[in-house]
Amino acid sequence: MFEDSEHGGDIFLFCQYYQIPYPSHQKTHHQRPKIQRLHTNFLSMTLFGVYSEIKSEFWHGTLWGESPLLGKEEIIISEVVYKCGDFIYYYNNGRYLGRLRAILRNENDSDNQYVLRVQKTLDYDHLPGNFKGSLRQSRSHKEVWLKDEFIIIKISQLTEKANVMIGFQHQYIPEDTLQINEIIYKHNGHWCIRDAKFSYQHPADYIKLKSPPPSMKVYKLFLDLYFDDFGTYRNVYHSLGGIYLQFGNMPAYMRKQIKNHFVLGFVPFGGTFNEFIKPFVVEMKKLEQGKIMKIQGEDSWIIASLSVITADLPQGNDLTGVLRHGANKGCRTCTIKKELLTDYNQDIVAKSRYHHITNEEITKISQESVISIKNQLGTKYGLRLLPSILDQLKREKHLQTPQDIYHSTAGKIGRLLKITCELFSQEGKENFIKIWKDFEKPKKWPRLPNPINHHASFMMSDYLRIAMIIPYILYRFLKISSLKENGIIAIQQRINAPHNNLIIKSIISCWVHVAKTMKAVFNSEFTADEYNNLQKCLQDELIILSKVFASFENLPNLHVNMHLLMHAQTFGTLINTQVGIKEMVHRVFKGIVPKTNRKNIDLDLLRRYNTLFAIRHLADGGIDPRFGKSCASFTNSNFSHLFSNWYITDNKFFNKKNDNDNNVTSPVEFISNISLKRKISKQDRDNLLSCLPNFNIELQSAYDRDLGVEEALTQFYSISWYEFVSYTIEETNGTFSKIQLHLNDYITINDEDYGESYAVIKGIFRHKGNNGKYYAFIVIDWFKNINQKHSVLECPLYQIQGIGNQRWKNVFSIHMIHEVQKVHFVHNCNSECQDYYNTTNRIWIKNDYYFTAI
Ligand SMILES: [Zn+2]
Ligand SMILES: [Zn+2]
Repeated sequence: MFEDSEHGGDIFLFCQYYQIPYPSHQKTHHQRPKIQRLHTNFLSMTLFGVYSEIKSEFWHGTLWGESPLLGKEEIIISEVVYKCGDFIYYYNNGRYLGRLRAILRNENDSDNQYVLRVQKTLDYDHLPGNFKGSLRQSRSHKEVWLKDEFIIIKISQLTEKANVMIGFQHQYIPEDTLQINEIIYKHNGHWCIRDAKFSYQHPADYIKLKSPPPSMKVYKLFLDLYFDDFGTYRNVYHSLGGIYLQFGNMPAYMRKQIKNHFVLGFVPFGGTFNEFIKPFVVEMKKLEQGKIMKIQGEDSWIIASLSVITADLPQGNDLTGVLRHGANKGCRTCTIKKELLTDYNQDIVAKSRYHHITNEEITKISQESVISIKNQLGTKYGLRLLPSILDQLKREKHLQTPQDIYHSTAGKIGRLLKITCELFSQEGKENFIKIWKDFEKPKKWPRLPNPINHHASFMMSDYLRIAMIIPYILYRFLKISSLKENGIIAIQQRINAPHNNLIIKSIISCWVHVAKTMKAVFNSEFTADEYNNLQKCLQDELIILSKVFASFENLPNLHVNMHLLMHAQTFGTLINTQVGIKEMVHRVFKGIVPKTNRKNIDLDLLRRYNTLFAIRHLADGGIDPRFGKSCASFTNSNFSHLFSNWYITDNKFFNKKNDNDNNVTSPVEFISNISLKRKISKQDRDNLLSCLPNFNIELQSAYDRDLGVEEALTQFYSISWYEFVSYTIEETNGTFSKIQLHLNDYITINDEDYGESYAVIKGIFRHKGNNGKYYAFIVIDWFKNINQKHSVLECPLYQIQGIGNQRWKNVFSIHMIHEVQKVHFVHNCNSECQDYYNTTNRIWIKNDYYFTAI
């Protein structure tokens, strides 16, 4: 799959067009190599696991630090080699024994010092009292206990190596060697103990690496394989599965770009994944061992491993060798039975699937020759009779095939939406639609049809959006008369409600929990506190949904709540492993299918893809070896922007142009292309100015404060007012994004005194300064935090100030805007609201559930 290039010097990805039987034609394709060029400048930053207070990237997760295939596997201190997985003594106000889990580069330290992540151990004397007893005491001279608790220490705290062996991993343990047989952990706030076998092995226990050739630079690649099955496509005959690769070494913003989704190939309908992936597995086995390749012209040692598989629930189970989620034990992460899937008292760690235990079960199945007994064993363990072909690669498959939050969250919302709509009486339906139509939805959303009549036409991203606003919509109209009689009775019985108000409350509360949990799982950065908050959201949501609605009981999509915290910690965040964008990329390819002659779909698609990649390669300044020099006309044209910066997501990254229609000067370097459009009416302008008696003074102070122009303005007449302004911002990572700003948009301004503050745009204008240049300004109305939370919707309340309020400044240069449309406000309606708004009620709710999903 990877080859170093003879000519260029960068890594090239070779995706063979693998031979697979094509059932409809009964013929095979010839091998056809295709080349994808990979920029390698992102590689050098990710040679180690990184310790950071804020986790956002793959290399902040626990897997990266621990696996020798990804992180730093050893460190030499005072001529002693310490390897990840070794037991060590360390000093921390006393001498302790622990296991060295990971050697991490400390991001907070300017000298890039290493820190060590250590798992704690306990000796007999320090065991919780209920685990003490004569049996354990009799072993206490040669046994210690691992604890599910970790500590970060400095290199200087490490004192020496220790000799400890984990019992079940060794047949023979010498008398004088300490051993570990059990792990102490907390479950539901209580101390528990489990056999050490029921735990993920440290990757160093099953991965041994060859040493790289001396003084050769080492690169380790994190591969993320995404498989999208045929799905329920209208015409299944023309459908195909897609297999894509991504590099976890790229930072999250790069992985979002379409050009960084690499097509491994398409599996035509009737072909199988296993056959398709065979050659890939063969090459990956070599790459796990390390291979010499050229990187930036230099011989380098490349290690690549299949570090995560991202897929929907059914495909993910297939690739893990676990039965599908309808089976009695159909979870790929644990062995909890079907009827206990949403019982949150389940002790997850004790019931998780562990690769080494699954292997024993697979061996038992394979050794059985009677097919009916084989099947029985398969059912008993919840395993397929044949293991996945990917098992030939070195990974903890149960940990490294996480459940996807995009599908599971949208699935949950879809179900709750259906149940909620079915609960509505005729009156309820009518009120819902009425409120839905007028509701102040975020402006940059595409139009959403109402969910009562158009439920079936929603896409997954629509469900995520709906969940952000439904709590508010329900709160505005839901009464007991909005619900059908039998629905009321069913919920009443489930929650044991003495009066009907509680029923309304619990329905809204379900939506509040779903919205809150959604926001938490899609968080792009986690601190230790946010991991705790995530866990609390997941747990509360699991409890309330399965309590209020029967059809959430034992729902696999809800069950994944029990595993998501672990996945977040393993991979840094949950959006690192979500498949939303990947699914869209796949949809792009599927969309091409009807435009082909449909005889040889997979081949046609690859051809298109190859052509696109070739163009992109040339546009990036690449050289076609047949010509000997780069294609300058490509590089100089705008093609490079077309192919390098486009996203499939909301971020509309695009190139910087210099056509400045109305000559507005940018006050700062990172803003360009300022363009004002659509003049407002004289009436609107006069209304606005009548609220701003001190407009001239405000404008003068905006020049002074925002633009650093202290001299007195000589003219105030050269002002034009607009509805709309757009401009381009250069982000700190060097990409460009286009900002569009309308009247009544919500913005964020970083205020020196108040920190992040919110405002709404009331006016947009340009003014000709003393130097004859035009500058763009906005008039805003501030939201003031009144430090209260809405008791039902659980979101903070704000009071709008009213422009002209003397104590608040209203006129700002546009570059003072920090973010646009990243917040959403909903009016806190009361009985006097007409059309959901009234001028006397100044209280608004900040929608904390609002975010941009992908
Ligand atoms: Zn599970
Ligand atoms: Zn209102």
